[in-house]
Amino acid sequence: MREDDIKKNIDKCSRCALCLQNCPIYQIKKDENNTARGLICKLSGYEKKILSEKEIKKDLKICLNCSKCKENCPSKVDTTMVFAYKNAKFSPSKISQRLFLLVKLLPVKIMYFLNIFKKKYKNNLIKTNILYFKGCVAKAQHKTTYLDKIFSNADFLCCGVPYLIAGDIKNYEKAKKRNIDLIKKASKVVFDCASCKRAVSEYEELDEAQKKKLVFFSDFLTGKKIQLKESSKYKNKTVIFHKPCHMDKNDYKKIEIFLSNIEGINYKKQENSNLCCGFGGSYFLYHPFIALKIVLKKATIIKKTKADLILTACPSCTMGLRFGQIASFNFRKTLEIRDFIDSELTI
Ligand code: SF4
Ligand code: SF4
Repeated sequence: MREDDIKKNIDKCSRCALCLQNCPIYQIKKDENNTARGLICKLSGYEKKILSEKEIKKDLKICLNCSKCKENCPSKVDTTMVFAYKNAKFSPSKISQRLFLLVKLLPVKIMYFLNIFKKKYKNNLIKTNILYFKGCVAKAQHKTTYLDKIFSNADFLCCGVPYLIAGDIKNYEKAKKRNIDLIKKASKVVFDCASCKRAVSEYEELDEAQKKKLVFFSDFLTGKKIQLKESSKYKNKTVIFHKPCHMDKNDYKKIEIFLSNIEGINYKKQENSNLCCGFGGSYFLYHPFIALKIVLKKATIIKKTKADLILTACPSCTMGLRFGQIASFNFRKTLEIRDFIDSELTI
């Protein structure tokens, strides 16, 4: 995002405060400095040379980058991109940025090397130019998902958001460029991670026609006969779905239809399904007390549902929800929806 686009977005804010009520950080801290309106006001002060970088940096770092403010903004301020780019600009030094990123990506890298000898799935029958955007965690686990068997598994790079949040704009731009080149050649790009899809949809270089190519896997399941495997341990069990903050509302509706159509499980729509899991990638490492409060809030609601299985569609949410189960002594299984499909369903 260029500086003039950032400025345009800052100027678009009408200070209406509609972004406050759903901000998970505001719900915990009750401090307007940490809301989208507060941050936009401060950045406006910075543009006008009233405030210094130091007076904004700390508050920018507390933002979870969950996008709830952006979703609720009537003026269509691109809050998350403004905050991410400004945060990247204000980040102190290259060495600290790299260290931040190293810590963040370390579990994924370790997982990659632990799984490196797993056999890779090769589908020689693929003749489609519908491409599967496999996220970093699924790649690191060398997982063969059902989407590998249907669509071409192109060599997309990371969506780039971990780099951007860590202040590494150079690598963010590099990942973005590679992914855009592949999107342009595809007829559709299928995602099974809500956060990857959101990150790619936010590439400003993509026009509306290119963005329409980006779809969630649930689009391909509509009208299909879906059954629970005979051997499934979730027969007649209660299943809920946690909506990742970055999940598009329409994708969520389709996931709900998909889950309600599965014969043999008791799918229960969750109250407050929109509530953040609190994990936000590596957010937990840097703001453990805030994250823990959000995680526990979510875990308490989940506990009341008495669900046997919690599903979601983002590896970061999966970690957050699992942590919440442990912290609230509610030892229920949490799975990524793609793993649930692979192990429990026949489609
Ligand atoms: S909802 Fe949008 S326009 Fe309203 S205060 Fe928040 S950022 Fe500004
Ligand atoms: S991105 Fe999320 S945490 Fe950050 S200001 Fe917006 S609603 Fe709050």
